[in-house]
This record gives sequence, structure tokens and C-alpha cells, in this order.
Amino acid sequence: MECIFCKIIVGEIPAKLIYDRNEVIAFDDINPQAPTHLLIVPKKHFENAGEIAESDAEILAEMFRVAKELAKGRGLSGYRTVFNTGAEAGQSVFHAHLHLIGGRAFGWPPG
Ligand code: AMP
Repeated sequence: MECIFCKIIVGEIPAKLIYDRNEVIAFDDINPQAPTHLLIVPKKHFENAGEIAESDAEILAEMFRVAKELAKGRGLSGYRTVFNTGAEAGQSVFHAHLHLIGGRAFGWPPG
């Protein structure tokens, strides 16, 4: 098993777990880009968000519900959720994950 997020899910690699229920876990990003930067990750291995949508769209919905719950828990009045798909878009880990970032102002368009 080469996937780093699969290793976090089975406990082979440590991570600061924030959430673990049903089909989804969330943990702190190791290289945070904002005061809150969490990764919301399906336990089942999918390469990207499109694959989740094609295979089990309810997991995608659960990931956004978890984002809402965790953002509320941290008192964030606004937050950004991002799926990078493909290396050109900045994806570096090819196990689908939703970035939840907040706690500072963000610019648009994103870099
Ligand atoms: P992406 O570039 O969209 O694929 O995002 C991958 C994210 O995973 C990056 O923000 C990394 O900082 C983060 N990351 C990589 N390895 C780990 C790890 N072992 N624990 C937590 N976050 C990680």
C-alpha cells in the first residue's frame, strides 16, 4: 500500500485526527495554509472528487456536511472548501481529499 492517506486511515502513519465517523475522517494538514486547514478524507480510496461522485455521491455529500460541522465547531463565519484534481491544479496526494481552510481572509481568483 503506497497511498499516504490510506496509511493514515489504518493508523500506520500518525496524524492529528479531528473527526472519524462512518465513511469519513478529518485531520490537520501537515503544512497549514491558514489558521484552520483540515483535510476531509473518504476512508475508501478514490483518486479524486469526480471518482467519488461517479461511485458513491453520498460520500461526497457527507464530506461537505463534515466540513460544515467542523467549521461551525471552530466558529468560522466563512471558510473555503477545495478539491484539487490533477497535478496541474496542484493535487499532490492522489487519494481524494477536501481541504477545509479558514480563519483568515482569502483572495480571489486563487493562485
Ligand atoms: P493536494 O496538494 O491538494 O493533493 O493536498 C495534499 C495535502 O496533503 C497538502 O496540503 C499537504 O500538506 C497534505 N499532506 C501531505 N502529507 C500529509 C500528512 N502526512 N499529514 C497531513 N497532511 C499531509
